[in-house]
Amino acid sequence: MLSVVKMENVVKNYRVGKVEVPAIRGLTLSIEKGEFAAIAGPSGSGKTTMLNLFGCLDKPTKGRVLIEEHDIIKMKPDELADVRNEHIGFIFQSFNLIPVLSAFENVEFPLILLKKDGPRARKQKVMAMLESVGIAELAGRRPSEMSGGQQQRVAIARALVKSPDYVLADEPTANIDTKTGHEILDLMQAMNKNLGTTFIFSTHDPKVMEHARRLIHIRDGQIESDEKR
Ligand code: ADP
Ligand code: MG
Repeated sequence: MLSVVKMENVVKNYRVGKVEVPAIRGLTLSIEKGEFAAIAGPSGSGKTTMLNLFGCLDKPTKGRVLIEEHDIIKMKPDELADVRNEHIGFIFQSFNLIPVLSAFENVEFPLILLKKDGPRARKQKVMAMLESVGIAELAGRRPSEMSGGQQQRVAIARALVKSPDYVLADEPTANIDTKTGHEILDLMQAMNKNLGTTFIFSTHDPKVMEHARRLIHIRDGQIESDEKR
């Protein structure tokens, strides 16, 4: 199988003053095309650090992070920004929508950055995506006029509209109620199935883990178990 992103013997330490805080302690993991994988672990186990490395938002202290066999350590900041814009979709715990933009404009934003489509093509893609996440009728609303679940749907549409190679979601259901959380996971799963988009999401909620087809448990920055089902 083709790996979309992988880590080889990755160590990540954060420097706090004169102290090195270990976050990832020698981790090897390959994510393949089409996977719907959960990274599970208690708070402080290194989930966000892992997703930041997969998202080219940070570089490892030791070891390699490879995106389609390209080592991110060798890339310059603007090359990393291009990789993020073109290949990776991001979904955050607190949605991170732009408050002054409507749902439509939030989803359109990554397409404007990519500079590939004109206004008409953009409108088509954005509306199709809002339709598939079930909130086309809310296109004109701002984030403050939507529920948490609706905002996360906008964020999913924003992550997927540019057809990324993979989507990273850091605790995507942490700020919404349990029922809405299940709906959001079901939606991500449907997008994975229908569009073939690779998803990597983190969670510490056992109910959310049940949705995963691959469950990677981490603890103290190391893999404890890695199970496909
Ligand atoms: P999780 O997302 O699973 O809660 P994190 O990846 O955020 O875990 O954190 C892993 C470890 O790294 C923790 O011990 C945390 O305190 C530490 N850490 C995370 N980010 C930083 C940072 N920016 N500076 C210093 N230490 C950090
Ligand atoms: Mg975290």
